[in-house]
Amino acid sequence: TLGAVSEYPARAVVDLAAVRGNVRALAAHALTAQVMAVVKADAYGHGLVPCARAAVDGGAGWLGVAQVPEALELRRAGVVGPRVLTWLYAPGAPLREAVEADVDVSVSAPWALDEVTAAARAAGRAARVHLKVDTGLGRNGLTPAQLDELLPAALAAQAEGAVELVGVWSHLAFADEPAHPTVRTQAVVFADAVRRVEQAGAHLEVRHLANSAATLTDPAVHYDLVRPGIAVYGISPVPQVGGPQEFGLVPAMTLEAELATVKPVPAGHGVSYAHQYVTPQETVLGVVPLGYADGVPRHASGTQDRPGGPVRVGGRTVGVTGRVCMDQVVLDLGPGATDRAGDRVELFGTGADGGPTAQDWAEAAGTIAYEIVTRIGARVPRVHV
Ligand code: PLP
Repeated sequence: TLGAVSEYPARAVVDLAAVRGNVRALAAHALTAQVMAVVKADAYGHGLVPCARAAVDGGAGWLGVAQVPEALELRRAGVVGPRVLTWLYAPGAPLREAVEADVDVSVSAPWALDEVTAAARAAGRAARVHLKVDTGLGRNGLTPAQLDELLPAALAAQAEGAVELVGVWSHLAFADEPAHPTVRTQAVVFADAVRRVEQAGAHLEVRHLANSAATLTDPAVHYDLVRPGIAVYGISPVPQVGGPQEFGLVPAMTLEAELATVKPVPAGHGVSYAHQYVTPQETVLGVVPLGYADGVPRHASGTQDRPGGPVRVGGRTVGVTGRVCMDQVVLDLGPGATDRAGDRVELFGTGADGGPTAQDWAEAAGTIAYEIVTRIGARVPRVHV
């Protein structure tokens, strides 16, 4: 353990009411489709188990994770109500434990059917299987040709009672560009795959294709179940189309800290490594105890001409001054600033009151907000409120 939260000068506060509300909003967008809240990668950095529970309270009947241990952790924590799907594993994964824990598994490659079947036999119960089809993302999943080849064995395993084919699913390459022509192309390939599986005799429970962006912008691909991730945490998957408020979402995470140092410096004072910034006038510097080890992207460093990532301090927003360091960043608080060591600063939050958001940090760093929230370092305590 790293010590009590109160021993740290910074924290990521996660508003679970926002997570619940976001799932409710997504369920409203999904109309008749069920909602699978994607809680992989420690719930996008927000804390796996508390966020999973909040998502279920908000109406998610399903939880989605990439890796098998993430699914097992949910079950071990007593999250037993919702269905859980895991989809990314390599040969030798603990699939027997997954089946015993009532976790649905994706079969995304031919070898996986053999391992899932063996795991189910060992567990003495049928594995609930979702066949993943690569409809055009070019990532994990059976190509349509591989699906055709695999189907007889999958149906034989079902007849034997080792597997139950409950789902066919896929993932979109361009959902974040609504109306991109590949969405339709993928939907056509998907519908064809579903038809072939059903014609072969499987009685599917769920067909699913939509991530957050498709959930919010493309009802034609909702099918039976939608799989939003980033939107569960209140971040817009399509910032070029609209911010969270346009979709009824509220960012759940606030990254905050207390100023560690505030000091007056003269004009011409070089700031942080390599003096990418030199004070143009007599001013006051503030040190924030969060750096790239905590997930503050070094690409959001400031230069003389361009302030870095935005920080809310004393009701105003100040860009990071000079280079982001491992444990800290420096702010030019301005001449005569009256801020003091111990004052609260916010790197990102809900964006209400005009404060900075994870999306603002993404833009400052040339990346996506997904990367900002998922990379908050292990050292930063998560505080769930
Ligand atoms: N489905 C799958 C297979 C994923 O890998 C992800 C995340 O990347 C999601 C759904 C959720 O995507 P998003 O966070 O864009 O909603």
